[in-house]
Amino acid sequence: MKRAVVLGAGVMGAQIAAHLANAGVEVDLLDIVPAAPSPEEAARGLTLADRPVRDRFALGGLERLRTLKPSPVFSAASLERIHPGNVEDDLERVRLADWVIEAIVEQLEPKRQLWERVEPLAAPEAVLSSNTSGLSLAAIARGRGDGFRRRFLGTHFFNPPRYMKLLEVIPTAETDPAVVETVRAWGERLLGKGIVVARDTPNFIGNRIGVYALHVTLQAMEQFGLNPETVDALTGPVVGHPKSATFRTLDVVGLDTMVLVADNIREKLEDPAERAVFEVPGYVREMIRRGWLGQKSGQGFYKRVEAGGRRDYLVLDLATFEYRPQEVARFPSLESARRQAELGERLRTLAYADDAAGRFTWTVLKRLLLYAAAKAEEIAGGDLEAIDRALRWGFNWEAGPFEIWAELGLARSVARMREEGEAVPDWVLAAVERGEERLYAPSPTPSERYPVAPVLWLERQGRTIWENPGATLVDLGEEVAALEFHAPKDAIGPDLIEALHRAAREVERNWRGLVLVNERSENFCVGANLALILMAAESGDWASIEQMVDAFQQANMELKYLHRPVVAAPWGMALGGGAEICLHADRVQAGAELYVGQVEAGAGVIPAGGGTKELLLRALARIPAGASWGPIAGGPSAGSGAMAVFDPAPFVARAFETIATAKVSTSAVEARELGFLRECDGVSMGRDALLSDAREQVLLLDRLGYRPPERRPVPVPGREVRAVLDVAVDYLVRSRQASEHDARIARALARVITGGDLPQGTPVDEQHLLDLEREAFLSLVGEPKTRERMQHLLETGRPLRN
Ligand code: NAD
Repeated sequence: MKRAVVLGAGVMGAQIAAHLANAGVEVDLLDIVPAAPSPEEAARGLTLADRPVRDRFALGGLERLRTLKPSPVFSAASLERIHPGNVEDDLERVRLADWVIEAIVEQLEPKRQLWERVEPLAAPEAVLSSNTSGLSLAAIARGRGDGFRRRFLGTHFFNPPRYMKLLEVIPTAETDPAVVETVRAWGERLLGKGIVVARDTPNFIGNRIGVYALHVTLQAMEQFGLNPETVDALTGPVVGHPKSATFRTLDVVGLDTMVLVADNIREKLEDPAERAVFEVPGYVREMIRRGWLGQKSGQGFYKRVEAGGRRDYLVLDLATFEYRPQEVARFPSLESARRQAELGERLRTLAYADDAAGRFTWTVLKRLLLYAAAKAEEIAGGDLEAIDRALRWGFNWEAGPFEIWAELGLARSVARMREEGEAVPDWVLAAVERGEERLYAPSPTPSERYPVAPVLWLERQGRTIWENPGATLVDLGEEVAALEFHAPKDAIGPDLIEALHRAAREVERNWRGLVLVNERSENFCVGANLALILMAAESGDWASIEQMVDAFQQANMELKYLHRPVVAAPWGMALGGGAEICLHADRVQAGAELYVGQVEAGAGVIPAGGGTKELLLRALARIPAGASWGPIAGGPSAGSGAMAVFDPAPFVARAFETIATAKVSTSAVEARELGFLRECDGVSMGRDALLSDAREQVLLLDRLGYRPPERRPVPVPGREVRAVLDVAVDYLVRSRQASEHDARIARALARVITGGDLPQGTPVDEQHLLDLEREAFLSLVGEPKTRERMQHLLETGRPLRN
């Protein structure tokens, strides 16, 4: 797929265009022509004949992409692939598109009319899809020709499309299965989404079940006489839902939107009992009447207040309609559930407890499970796993309804449902009868496109090779091993360092190569365990700090020079030591969402696990081949006039700045721009693809006859470049952009990155640079201001500028 047209440049259209552009696709983004120039446009002398006026909506959509947070684009380069226009002048561009996605207002007639105009223009094999939240796809396609209906389907992205994993694909009865497969491939590979195929029913899978669960929660709140803040305490992470739980989520989504969605579902349902569940409570209608829509209007169920410099959230009292301080009711069941690490333990503790919290939780879950079971055939063709995935990927639940059911215990929960007179579907009863523990057997991977199962799954299959509290070495198949990091807080401590050494030795002897990954956490690795370093520093135990830094440096060196290919597969944050591990790998197979950076300065130190050294090596490698610099390499002072002479300072300065200002990428694309990824490194758009792709990289390197890099002497940038960097640091201090301690750190970095106190071009080995890193690190840890920075980072998670 090379080119797409997105029709409608609103909230969704613009962001869908952005994500296509993130994937390298050229996108035409078309919206309507406004009725008349705005007063500002008229003041600028523009009329309705002028492009800036005619394209106003598409241009506006593009403009919003620049400022939206979190950013919908991987880097500014994505925006250049989006070409704004309007549906009156530019609809012809549809002819060039491989995929036309319509995301205009959620109304049947405008959608039908627009498709009628697109039909004669679209290329014969182009895929055509509507991004509707709940309209019938068959109704949108009615009246179009056979050729149209064969390649028309729904593609329901969740907001925000870059970050939400779920993409519901909704074929009609007439959609060609090959077209569904094409969209699945694009969705997974190109856009990194998790695909769930839904039937063409009201609001499809995610919203049908998710919104039902919301309404059941509101009803149970009234039934058990709870207040909103208590319901939030009971419906957040303790039951595997996001922190924003019920009412904070509603405030973020907006109450007007909630009502639109509920009204829309209710309108399309026929069963009166089912419709009643989607009835909007009176207090919500009243809040809308008062304009209390949530975050966007400054107040909703919660209202932020500032008092004495402290920020607080008051909650709406639904009886008096006044905001009051929060009063979360206390329940022994909730407190004990919160202490459990496993979701299943927490669910059982809460749902079977004999107090109001327990009865509330049980009621909500029971109704959710029975509804999901009752609707499974209608909305998902009986694919229970699709329903679980839709709720996990579209609502960020830790477990979908059928997974929750298995955790509650199928037999135990069904017995209680029957005691309470509920109608349980026969197929569920039959499963209980057969003694089954779950209603379906989960597949090992979310897609056949990704052959490698997740590490936890492999572990359960007995594929563990070795493990310690910091990491597990596991057999990925095809004679490739993976070291999966799971150290506490994703930090590097002695266990992880030992695991790296251990993995290197084991892989050198018995495996074709090694993958480094962290699947259990949001992040790959956030750097050294600062608590350990701080503790040792406070007790003056410099030897143990030095020993730990040295061991980490040597582990990275072992990975770099191993006689087997090593591929790092980072997703999320790869900071400090996490970045250094990636810098030493032969290849990085990066997750598209990669936040990588050498952020040590924020902790008062410099990269000392080989990161300073590797960024220097990369800077030197960027100096054009054939050019030479420095007296040893044949520069002017060596008397060789024939070769081009290059000043290494700008190259080194860039690496210096990346470290000194602790730059962190906001995506893999930006990581490449910052120099953390090379051209040869790969990017996987979806997290599910990462492990399979990384294994593929190992196999490829192995098949091509992998040899470790040669150990070559490094010509240092020397005193000459250090003087340049020091001048820059002095300027930053004088202009108050850097504190004295920032400058102290930056000067230490300048000394290391230029190779110590040597003349330009002096060849050194890598160990020389590592020794400089270690020495600088130890001397900085000896400074009280550095230890203040570490303390502050540990306590607040934010860097201190002292
Ligand atoms: P929006 O109101 O933000 O944007 C709609 C855009 O379509 C507007 O810019 C409007 O000018 C344009 N438009 C209207 N008629 C048009 C026409 N005939 N030709 C070209 N452009 C036209 O709406 P949105 O939130 O982006 O929703 C778009 C679609 O996506 C809807 O079908 C909605 O149900 C669906 N959706 C929305 C969300 C969400 O969270 N907002 C999530 C999933 C799906």
